[in-house]
Amino acid sequence: MSATVIDGKAFAATVRQKVGGHVARLKEEHGITPGLAVVLVGEDPASQVYVRSKGKMTLEVGMASYEHKLEIDTSEADLLALIAQLNADPKIHGILVQLPLPPHLDSDLVINAIDPAKDVDGFHISNVGLLGTGQKSMVPCTPLGCLMMLRDHHGSLSGMNAVVIGRSNIVGKPMANLLLGDSCTVTIAHSRTKDLPGVVRQADIVIAAVGRPEMVIGDWIKPGATVIDVGINRIDKPEGGTRLVGDAEYASCAAVAGAITPVPGGVGPMTIACLLANTITACCRANGLAEPEGLTV
Ligand code: NAD
Repeated sequence: MSATVIDGKAFAATVRQKVGGHVARLKEEHGITPGLAVVLVGEDPASQVYVRSKGKMTLEVGMASYEHKLEIDTSEADLLALIAQLNADPKIHGILVQLPLPPHLDSDLVINAIDPAKDVDGFHISNVGLLGTGQKSMVPCTPLGCLMMLRDHHGSLSGMNAVVIGRSNIVGKPMANLLLGDSCTVTIAHSRTKDLPGVVRQADIVIAAVGRPEMVIGDWIKPGATVIDVGINRIDKPEGGTRLVGDAEYASCAAVAGAITPVPGGVGPMTIACLLANTITACCRANGLAEPEGLTV
């Protein structure tokens, strides 16, 4: 068997196009331009790349992009003052603080200072609680992107066995909640799980969110299962240079799976598309307008 490749890059383009259509409608019919503010503290190279591409995509769909680049030694008080200002600004519908923050800043405190209605990353404790209790919330972008791809590929996920490998607050736990919300039977596996290969072999859906290059191998995959690979790892090539790989070993998993997301070109592009989708959702909610179908859960 050779797996169907779930093309996250192409799917993300359709999501962005849909978002762009809603942005145009909001401008024409209501005179509203959705605005996304991104806050970056320090000069971490990977974070700078992410912030740049978020800003570029925000402008491409017609939204307003507000970038706040702060010095690495910015005090917590100054950062909280900026967040208070963005919370109060009606032009801003989404606020994202790029993580990780420098160690002298308390990430939980900072994230929980964001107005939950503008928390387009879905990390505020109120949004975590709302998602955990199956209520309308802002949903973290990476798991939302994974769910959109799964729904698109399978239609209903009801009754499927899903194994999420990884229990982080930004991927594993919200992913498990979303799958539960779609009536999957969900197992969360982690670094202390006994017989991980045996657990994964039960899965109709495998979400690999571990941060270990090519850890999940084809021998662990039930024939026909769907593999969603969240991992982004840069490894050295034998001939020199580096390449990106996921948390699943692509070739061996694709030989057994029914469907699989590639790395790059799978989950990654969907994450930014879902950030834009969340900003539209937040903008519609803030203005008492019906939120677009299919852009959130
Ligand atoms: P994390 O380090 O916060 O969490 C990793 C989880 O994996 C932990 O819960 C840990 O228990 C589990 N784990 C570690 N070793 C394990 C093992 N040997 N067996 C089973 N479980 C094990 O990572 P994260 O932030 O959740 O990210 C996971 C991966 O996803 C990383 O590669 C990250 O770069 C990637 N990521 C990608 C996107 C995207 O947009 N595509 C977004 C976020 C994270």
